[in-house]
Amino acid sequence: MLDIAIIGAGPAGLAAALRLHQKGLRPRIYETVPELKPLGVGIDVKVYGSKELDELGLLEEFRAISVDAEESIFYNKYGQEIYAELCGKHMGYLYEQRFVHRGYLQMLLYRTVLDRLGADAVVQGVRCTGYINEDESVLLDLEHEDGGREQVRADVVIAADGIKSVVRQQMHPEHSEPVYSGITMWRGTTLMEPFRGGHTILHIGAPQISSMIVYPIADDFEGTGKVLVNWVVEAERDETVEDWNQLGGVEEILSYYDQFELDFLDVQQMLRDAREVYLFPLIRHEPLDTWTDGRVVLIGDAAHAMYPRGGNGACQAIVDGGVLAEKLATIDDVPEALKAFEEQRLQAVNGIVMAHRGEGYEVVRRMVEDRTGGQRFDDIENVLPLTEADEIFSKYHKLVGQERPGWEQGQATGFRTWQLDGGSYRGLV
Ligand SMILES: Cc1cc2nc3c(=O)[nH]c(=O)nc-3n(C[C@H](O)[C@H](O)[C@H](O)COP(=O)(O)OP(=O)(O)OC[C@H]3O[C@@H](n4cnc5c(N)ncnc54)[C@H](O)[C@@H]3O)c2cc1C
Repeated sequence: MLDIAIIGAGPAGLAAALRLHQKGLRPRIYETVPELKPLGVGIDVKVYGSKELDELGLLEEFRAISVDAEESIFYNKYGQEIYAELCGKHMGYLYEQRFVHRGYLQMLLYRTVLDRLGADAVVQGVRCTGYINEDESVLLDLEHEDGGREQVRADVVIAADGIKSVVRQQMHPEHSEPVYSGITMWRGTTLMEPFRGGHTILHIGAPQISSMIVYPIADDFEGTGKVLVNWVVEAERDETVEDWNQLGGVEEILSYYDQFELDFLDVQQMLRDAREVYLFPLIRHEPLDTWTDGRVVLIGDAAHAMYPRGGNGACQAIVDGGVLAEKLATIDDVPEALKAFEEQRLQAVNGIVMAHRGEGYEVVRRMVEDRTGGQRFDDIENVLPLTEADEIFSKYHKLVGQERPGWEQGQATGFRTWQLDGGSYRGLV
């Protein structure tokens, strides 16, 4: 049996371990943190992410810790509706789109790895500092919490060590200088009453000034009877360190929403009531032209760090594990199997990395701001016709690997207004 070492127990490393286990393999994970904790805020798990979790046999447990996404609504900076679409099964996909706390998802994967692979499958408090490729194996340099060092040998090394991957730095020293985009994310959660029934994602404002995304990530959070709502604001700011746990405050961003009005949500109050606020700069990590070096392969953020927009970072990381396990289980030659994985994934995922640097479907908010000169509009159809908006959304969904149901077959020609929870929206049904 192949002796496989995985570096990092984030979503990428844990999902890869489960996929390898499904193929009869038993990898070992080395994680630098001495004790995994449910850190982070929200992740928007796309339909293809739910499919992966179903294939891992985790859909029911995932449903229990997440919120079904029903509708997605876009507003200008005054709170006027620009566009809306249904999500997941409500849109006709076979799988749900769901919102989840990143830490809860990680803990679900972690517990499942311990259950299925055994308690010794995850070694914590051990940091990988480098590797040496040999003809028939790889030597991994590990540093323990107490400063002790050791070398372990493996047939394959899967580096899932995140945005600051040391393995990527060794494999691609020329890519070790990431560039700040000028935009920072304020990421936070607020415990509050549900808005619009508790299944809606909101996209708010003119992205040139600031962009806000809001969605619920847990119902009846910790028995409080309230919903835990995740929000993210993007705006220009001086550079900060690229650290998921860097704390911040909301004072700098409140004024962006002085003119914004919604009858079902006071966004300034939501920001002021935040339980926690983190700052995260959007850093450009250039797409790589290879993820492999002999018997070592990069997956997840280590391979394709992207701006954390729209949940594709986590979902693509989870997809990696399934493809990689399939190749390792079916191709005897390890470097060849890793290359086959790269061949199937690299170009497509690099496309998503680049698309995330642009605006994706969020471009509709900038288009409306530009076309109205930043003023209120009377009729959105005269500013952004529905057919034009639909085209943008359909192209984006296709790019990230979840083509809109019926779109290519030409069945989805009837756009109409639908009724949901008493509201009326425009989009593809
Ligand atoms: C603390 C934290 C909070 C996050 N919060 C959010 C969030 O709120 N929203 C969001 O969209 N994304 C968040 N992310 C990122 C998100 O998890 C990833 O974009 C995505 O899920 C891909 O996961 P990954 O496993 O590739 O990387 P990560 O989730 O970053 O996991 C990498 C893992 O590798 C470990 N590691 C790193 N270096 C080494 C090393 N040298 N040796 C051993 N282990 C190592 C890390 O401790 C970590 O557990 C967060 C990541 C972290 C680490």
